[in-house]
Amino acid sequence: MDLEFGDADVAFRDEVRAWLAANVPAEPLPSFDTAEGFAAHRAWEAKLADAGLAAVSWPAEFGGRDATMLQWVIFEEEYYAAGAALRVNQNGLFMLAPTLFNHGTDEQRARILPAMARSERVWAQAWSEPEAGSDIASLRSTATRVDGGWKLSGQKTWSSRAAFADGAFGLFRSEPGSERHRGLTYLMFDLRAPGVTVRPIPQLDGQPGFAEIFLDEVFVPDADVIGEPGQGWRVAMTTANNERGLSLRSPGRFLSAADALVDLWEREDGDTSSADAQRVADAWIGARAYQLYTFGTVTRLQDGGELGPESSVNKLFWSHLDVALHETALDLLGPRGELTGDSAPDAGRWPAGYLFSLAGPIYGGTDQIQRNTIAERLLGLPRGAR
Ligand SMILES: Cc1cc2nc3c(=O)[nH]c(=O)nc-3n(C[C@H](O)[C@H](O)[C@H](O)COP(=O)(O)OP(=O)(O)OC[C@H]3O[C@@H](n4cnc5c(N)ncnc54)[C@H](O)[C@@H]3O)c2cc1C
Repeated sequence: MDLEFGDADVAFRDEVRAWLAANVPAEPLPSFDTAEGFAAHRAWEAKLADAGLAAVSWPAEFGGRDATMLQWVIFEEEYYAAGAALRVNQNGLFMLAPTLFNHGTDEQRARILPAMARSERVWAQAWSEPEAGSDIASLRSTATRVDGGWKLSGQKTWSSRAAFADGAFGLFRSEPGSERHRGLTYLMFDLRAPGVTVRPIPQLDGQPGFAEIFLDEVFVPDADVIGEPGQGWRVAMTTANNERGLSLRSPGRFLSAADALVDLWEREDGDTSSADAQRVADAWIGARAYQLYTFGTVTRLQDGGELGPESSVNKLFWSHLDVALHETALDLLGPRGELTGDSAPDAGRWPAGYLFSLAGPIYGGTDQIQRNTIAERLLGLPRGAR
């Protein structure tokens, strides 16, 4: 395996690094889980899009710049290293877009992707329901056939950023009497359409990072079905594999956090023989291992491969890396790890990051679900009792 970057990749990294150095605001944007922060993040996304950097690996006609997937990984490394804002449209860019590239129509891609690249339309994922989280195939929300489209009814929950987002994508039971994975349809809907009620839910930090979505006979045209009606499960696997296996959490996120942890250790401890030094080294090695593994994944995809159930190994790895990395930081800080706000060490990134890291083993499918997938679909072990 050749781990040297080619000239084009080096030039791309240099260009991205220079642009970010000149354009990333010195002060972090307010949290995108507030109305003010959401608007500030949208404006930042439009600026990225103007520079051709919002979705580098997409075709230029949709707002990308035809970069390779490897260059996308490079972009992400530079983006996080520069301390740029988290992507407010991450569920659109990293989950809905790959799904549209795989299963959407030309019309859908042309209509939806350019507005997504500019974050003129921000997307939320509306999969989970009160009685269907891990077992998403037990979902009850329905899509009923009507003239020219579908009427959606039911309740979705835990929808990240839905409090301020514009549209959502989700699975609905469209064949009455069907069971489990059969008879589901994958649809997009407008969060401000008649019949939609969005009720924000505060997260651990008190901000409305999630929302419940209530749907009461919400009309959706046929043009907003992704893939074939009744074939939603197959389409959903593309979304899930991207969420777990590649795009939602790229190595750049963990490499930059691991570098910051090394920096923190040098300031707070600096003793190479301490137990914490070992944990810092483990976190750094874990981030680097994930980077190398991801180079392998994108090389495989560029050669025509697909993301499959091995995505679950990936998800399990990065979610635990994130928890361990933040726990180590808090232990290095001792009681000061409790401080938040501007006067806190590193402006409070460690306790905030720790709280969010705790969600990693839950969202995108819990640890137990990833382990079930690994056991059954990768290792070929017998199915456990359900
Ligand atoms: C920060 C965050 C953001 C999220 N964002 C979104 C979003 O944008 N859109 C969205 O649709 N959802 C979102 N979710 C919801 C998330 O997908 C669900 O919480 C998750 O799938 C688990 O479902 P549940 O909460 O219903 O738990 P349950 O499914 O009720 O699980 C409870 C416990 O039982 C275990 N369990 C369940 N079934 C099995 C089994 N077969 N074998 C072994 N153990 C099992 C689980 O692992 C878990 O420990 C988000 C969640 C979090 C925390």
